Amino acid sequence: TQPVYHESDADRRYVDDKTVAVLGYGSQGHAHAQNLDDSGVDVVVGLRENSSTRSAVEADGLRVETPVEAASEADVVSVLVPDTVQPSVFEAIEPELDAGDTLQFAHGFNIHYGQIEPPERVDVTMIAPKSPGHLVRRNYEAGQGTPALLAVYQDASGHAKQEALAYADAIGCARAGVVETTFREETETDLFGEQAVLCGGVAELTKAGYETLVDAGYSPEMAYFECMNELKLIVDLMYEGGLGAMWDSVSDTAEYGGLTRGDAVVDDSVRENMEEVLEQVQNGEFATEWVAENQAGRPSYRQRRKAEKNHDIEDVGERLRDLFAWAEQETESESEREPE
Ligand code: NDP
Ligand code: MG
Ligand code: MG
Repeated sequence: TQPVYHESDADRRYVDDKTVAVLGYGSQGHAHAQNLDDSGVDVVVGLRENSSTRSAVEADGLRVETPVEAASEADVVSVLVPDTVQPSVFEAIEPELDAGDTLQFAHGFNIHYGQIEPPERVDVTMIAPKSPGHLVRRNYEAGQGTPALLAVYQDASGHAKQEALAYADAIGCARAGVVETTFREETETDLFGEQAVLCGGVAELTKAGYETLVDAGYSPEMAYFECMNELKLIVDLMYEGGLGAMWDSVSDTAEYGGLTRGDAVVDDSVRENMEEVLEQVQNGEFATEWVAENQAGRPSYRQRRKAEKNHDIEDVGERLRDLFAWAEQETESESEREPE
């Protein structure tokens, strides 16, 4: 099992007297910058001159410079612009990195696949919160934490790990727990998970179920409810208590049917497909394809996005969600009334 670190393992002195440049003020950037600032760390946000997020930084009372200026002031440069633009931003700031400075990431893609080749004089670390940025901020403000992964790719200073842990503590993650991993493991499991299960797998399973029912003559509304809408209820149970909580809470009929038919749907051929997807992640084929796709202006990405948007299940869903919006509002106002 992997080591898990908590607040008591973190020594805040490793970041207390440092200046952290947070490049990007999007999902992760705004959360890291504000949490670090509230933790007493000197923060400067790095954004391009015409950035649409500049006003947000100023409204939040933080300092903002260009990425190059911010990096030149900083001891730690937290690279939180989108993964696809990180290589060009890195190219611009590289000359500003002094010996012993730190390049800090929230995802390992560019380092692991060689899109960024950091100079030997710097530490290269990762603190990857396992949630969207708005939750990293919200949890921090509520005195709680968000679990995160920690990895060290390069330790020029001799204390890269302690500094990363202090950074994780300052953004609130050590309150929940920080799990040690490597850039390779984080990157490859993240890509595999989103492709095979979380995004790709679930979307295809949902559409396949929907199409099977509609093609057999059932109404699209029923197909939507059974294959898409109820998915949330099932996933919530799995999140709270694992597969056991899910099986416990569905009917015995659903449990027996699921246990006897599930592996007929997701059979050995699906596992073989998963192995193939994993191989393309491991051998860099997917990374090379995605980098080339971006360089070409994303033609295939655009086309697939459009096709997905035009799927019948999206129209049916939009209509039904509108129709049933009153139900959610009702529940909300009811729970608001409760405390009185
Ligand atoms: P976002 O897409 O939210 O970042 C947007 C920010 O980057 C904006 O401030 C934007 O400003 C700026 N930006 C965009 N393009 C450029 C550019 N060319 N030059 C300078 N600034 C630019 O990023 P995320 O927070 O989603 O991702 C940041 C990192 O965190 C990634 O490595 C990601 O993998 C990782 N991560 C993300 C998670 C998430 O939930 N989103 C979860 C865990 C890790 P502008 O107005 O100038 O475009
Ligand atoms: Mg990902
Ligand atoms: Mg049912």
